[in-house]
Amino acid sequence: MPLHRNARTDHRSLPADVGAYTYGLGHPMKPQRMRMTHELVSAYNMLDQMHVLRPKRATAESMARFHTDEYIHFLEMVTPETAEQLTYHGNRFLTGEDNPAFDGLFEFCSISAGGSIAAAQRIASGSYEIAINWAGGLHHAKKREASGFCYVNDIVLAILELLRSYPRVLYVDIDCHHGDGVEEAFYTTDRVMTVSFHKYGEYFPGTGTQQDKGRGKGHGYALNVPLRDGITDETYKGIFEPVMGKCLEIYRPSVVVLQCGADSLSGDKLGCFNLTMQGHANCVKFIKALGYPLILLGGGGYTVKNVARLWTYETAVALGIANEIDENLPWNEYFEWFGPRYRLEVAGNNMDDLNVRDGYLDAVRTLALEQLSRLPHAPSVGLHDVPSESVGTHIGLKDYDELDERLAREYECLAHFSVTLRRVMSSSYTRTAACQGTDAPIRFGGTHKIFLLHFGRTLSLRVSAARGSRKHHFRIFGRGGGRFFV
Ligand SMILES: [Zn+2]
Repeated sequence: MPLHRNARTDHRSLPADVGAYTYGLGHPMKPQRMRMTHELVSAYNMLDQMHVLRPKRATAESMARFHTDEYIHFLEMVTPETAEQLTYHGNRFLTGEDNPAFDGLFEFCSISAGGSIAAAQRIASGSYEIAINWAGGLHHAKKREASGFCYVNDIVLAILELLRSYPRVLYVDIDCHHGDGVEEAFYTTDRVMTVSFHKYGEYFPGTGTQQDKGRGKGHGYALNVPLRDGITDETYKGIFEPVMGKCLEIYRPSVVVLQCGADSLSGDKLGCFNLTMQGHANCVKFIKALGYPLILLGGGGYTVKNVARLWTYETAVALGIANEIDENLPWNEYFEWFGPRYRLEVAGNNMDDLNVRDGYLDAVRTLALEQLSRLPHAPSVGLHDVPSESVGTHIGLKDYDELDERLAREYECLAHFSVTLRRVMSSSYTRTAACQGTDAPIRFGGTHKIFLLHFGRTLSLRVSAARGSRKHHFRIFGRGGGRFFV
C-alpha cells in the first residue's frame, strides 16, 4: 500500500556550501548549479512551503558503510599537490581527467552525502512525505574508486540507511547515463530494485544492457532500459510509464529513491536526449502521484541554467504547485543567465528520435516487461532479521567484500602473469594480446594504453587512446593457469 503521510516536503539543498566548490576551469561539472537552483527556488517563494534543513556532513565512518576505508582515507588526505603521488600516477582511486583532486574535495563529498543520508533518516522517521537533495544523486561512484565526476556514492549510503527501516527500496534513475554504481552495489539483493533509463552505445560508462539483470538473490532486480539518441517526451513517456507502472505493481516498494539527473534534457552539453522540462518532470509527477515516501536527488546536468530551471520546477512538482507557477522567472541573483526569454522552460529541438526506428523501443519495452513479469510479487523480508548495526552485511555486501578481497589478491598476482584478453567488446580491440603487468599501463598495439582494474565482480578495462578515454566493463567468467578470461 502506498503510504500517505503529512504533506510536508523537506528541501535540503545547501547552495551556500556545496555551490562554492569547483572541479576546475573547463570541467563540465559546475557545483554552482546547486546555488542557482536554490536561488530560483527561493525567488519563487517556495522555501516558505517546505522545511529547509541543514543536515550534518557525512563522516568518513558513515561513508565507509559502502566505500573501503582505504579509499575514504585517501579522499580525506588528497590535495591537488599530492594527487599524482597518492593515486600512483592516476592508476588508483582517481583515474583519468573526469575526477580531479580539487580543493575541498572531501568537504564537498561530505555535504552531498550528508544531505542524502539525512533525507533517508527523515523519510524513515515518518515525518516527511518527500525529501529533496539536489546536491546528491552521484550515481557513478564505486566502492573503491571515483568515476564520472562522482566520488562518494550518496545514493548507496542513503539506500543503506533506508534498509534499516524498510523491507524494499526502489531506485529509479532518469539521468542520461547508466546508474552503474548503485546497480553494482545492490546487484545481488532483492531488497533493492534498481531501474535505470539511459543512453546506451558508445557512451559513458558503457554498461547497462538488458542482459544485466542482477545476480543470485538479486537476479531480475536490476532492470536496464537502454535508449538511443534523441528521445522525445512522448517516446520517453511511452516506455517510462508502462515499465514503472508494472515495476511498482510487482515489486511494491516501501519507499522510492528517484535520481533526477538533468543531462537527459534537450540541449545538455554532455547528454544526447531531447526531453523538455515538462517531459522530464513528468517522471517525477508519475512517481509522486502513487504516494510512496519519496526521495528526490540530483545527478548529472551540464547546461547549468537548464539544470536550475528543471530542479526548480521539479521542486514545485514535489510541493504540488507546478500548475500555479509563473513561467516568467522572478528576479534573482542569476537572472541574466536565463536570457533572452527569462522563462521557466526547457524546449526540445528538431533532432531525430532514433528510438522510434526499426521497432527498437517496442522491443526494449517488451523485454523489460517480460523481465518484470517473471518476478514474484513483493519479495518479503522479516524485519526482525535486519541487524540495525550493519544492513550491508545482512543484504550480502559481506560476501561481496570477501569476493572483492579475493579479487584484490589475485589482482596483485596479475603483475606476474600474462593476461589474455579475449572477446573484447569493440571490434577495434578484438585481437588477443598477451600483456605483461597491470600496475603500469599496458601497451596495446603501440597506440592504446590499457588499464586493468577490478571492482567487485567486474573487471574494468579502460582504454586510453590519443583522442580520449573509454571504459569497458566485463564480467569475469573464469580463470586458469594465471590467465583471466574476460
Ligand atoms: Zn549523467
